[in-house]
Amino acid sequence: MYRTHNCGELRAADINKTVTLCGWVQKVRNLGGMTFVDLRDRYGITQLVFNTETNAELCEKARKLGREFVIQAIGVVTERSSKNKDIPTGDIEITVQELNILNKSEIPPFTIEDNTDGGEDLLMKYRYLDIRRRPIIKGLQLRNKMSFEVRRYLDGHSFMEVETPMLIKSTPEGARDYVVPSRIHHGEFYALPQSPQQYKQLLMVAGIDRYYQIVKCFRDEDLRADRQPEFTQIDCEMSFVEQEDVLQVFEGLAKHLFKEIKGIDMNYQFPRMVWKDAMEQYGSDKPDIRFGMKIHNITDKVKNHGFKVFDDAEYVCAIAVGGCANYSRKQLDEITEWVKRPQVGAKGLVYIKYNEDNTIKSSVDKFYSPEELTEIAKFSGAGTGDLVLILCGKKLPVLNQMGVLRIEMGNRLGLRDKNIFAPLWVVDFPLFEWDEATQRFYAMHHPFTSPKKEDYDILETNPGEARANAYDLVINGIEIGGGSIRIHDSALQVRMFKLLGFTEEKAQAQFSCLINAFKYGAPPHGGLAFGLDRWAALLNGSDSIKDVIAFPKNNAARDIMIDAPSKISDEQLDELSLIIKPLTDK
Ligand code: ASP
Repeated sequence: MYRTHNCGELRAADINKTVTLCGWVQKVRNLGGMTFVDLRDRYGITQLVFNTETNAELCEKARKLGREFVIQAIGVVTERSSKNKDIPTGDIEITVQELNILNKSEIPPFTIEDNTDGGEDLLMKYRYLDIRRRPIIKGLQLRNKMSFEVRRYLDGHSFMEVETPMLIKSTPEGARDYVVPSRIHHGEFYALPQSPQQYKQLLMVAGIDRYYQIVKCFRDEDLRADRQPEFTQIDCEMSFVEQEDVLQVFEGLAKHLFKEIKGIDMNYQFPRMVWKDAMEQYGSDKPDIRFGMKIHNITDKVKNHGFKVFDDAEYVCAIAVGGCANYSRKQLDEITEWVKRPQVGAKGLVYIKYNEDNTIKSSVDKFYSPEELTEIAKFSGAGTGDLVLILCGKKLPVLNQMGVLRIEMGNRLGLRDKNIFAPLWVVDFPLFEWDEATQRFYAMHHPFTSPKKEDYDILETNPGEARANAYDLVINGIEIGGGSIRIHDSALQVRMFKLLGFTEEKAQAQFSCLINAFKYGAPPHGGLAFGLDRWAALLNGSDSIKDVIAFPKNNAARDIMIDAPSKISDEQLDELSLIIKPLTDK
């Protein structure tokens, strides 16, 4: 037997037991006649002690141990004279009687401790060493527990996990596909699933009633902190349900996870917000409701006072930033520059300082009386001591900009406490999204999402106003997941494809399977998918999903550890009948 215990489990109650531990050498310290070794494994750290006086040879062997050597130590659990309150094994140490080196290690490229000296690239290149560090193990453990609890909850609600294929035909989720060339079928390609959307709907036609799958999905998109080319969804679908049924079941799942993972009881109904309110009040379809600072539409209040910028604008809106009326000119200039950055995209910023002493100061003093400015400030939610920030432009873009500014001010004022969780459902999304560049409508969610019954009549006449039976679960400003009630009637599905600009041939070519399946008794159905990585990162208090993914890609979609993507041999290219075009400047 290599070991009797792990490095995280021995306590004062084990004193005098003879034990065998295995692990990695984190640190060797020599103090007078004693040598101490911190022995680490995935469960924790236990201190080993060697004494020159009692066993000089063994002590000498311990002194020569290098960092990350793999060793086996046999000894007796003893009480520590100086206890370490920071670790659970801190009351004891092992007085070692036998030491075996199981494997040596080269000096690792960074220190494998909670706070490492390694830079991001180095940590990624040696991710298998990075994973030895406690913060990373903690993230993976949390993720493991989440998957386990998801399965436990869904199994308890009669959901069945069914695996769906990875080599498929493209399902549109709005991103670019990763494709895989077929060797057997010359010139043809599989797509890797952006999600198992069509399969799960087909499983409903197949009578699998309640399906789920913890599944890898692939989207070739530009990367951000919360995006990876491959990511994991908790993908679910149910038959014979309306929106309310889906929300109930999955609100239950969310509460189960908060309870089991964070010990938080959420015994209240999650708030629901219609998409339009989310956009108008928070400037985002994923509002962070941990703090107020709501957006107010002040268009009517500011127009026709001779200030051309406002007069020409479609929409003028404001937020009140609590306690910031004392911002200096320099601070206001800095915020103005901040909103003008391309990432935000505002043209400029107007402010009103509603001072503690009731006086008012604004960058548009010339056009408005102090009374008018006070009124605007109050309407925007400000009291004395608050600062009102105003943006204007076209409605949706300006709301988005204000949403970004609101989050920034929330960050600056420390209003986004990681230990507070504020979930909500955003519902009644628009069915379509207008794309300026291509001058056409796209499905906001995906083409299988059903319109609201009340809006059937306006689908052709006023598509921009049509709402979908679609919903997102949002927590702390993060879209944790979303889904919809699907179309299950083939005539309506065909109508939808038409609205989205698919010719009948094109719809058939891409979705013939689903269209056909719907002819054979498709039950009413709906579902959703959660992003496991994002949710795990949120519960782990991480800003990046990389913290909860064992082997993530870097920001250039590269796995620098295993070196992928990489070139393939000419033989492989030949087999696939592929020719690599030289790169040209586009
Ligand atoms: N397939 C959708 C997605 O990946 C989720 C759903 O509609 O169930 O976003």
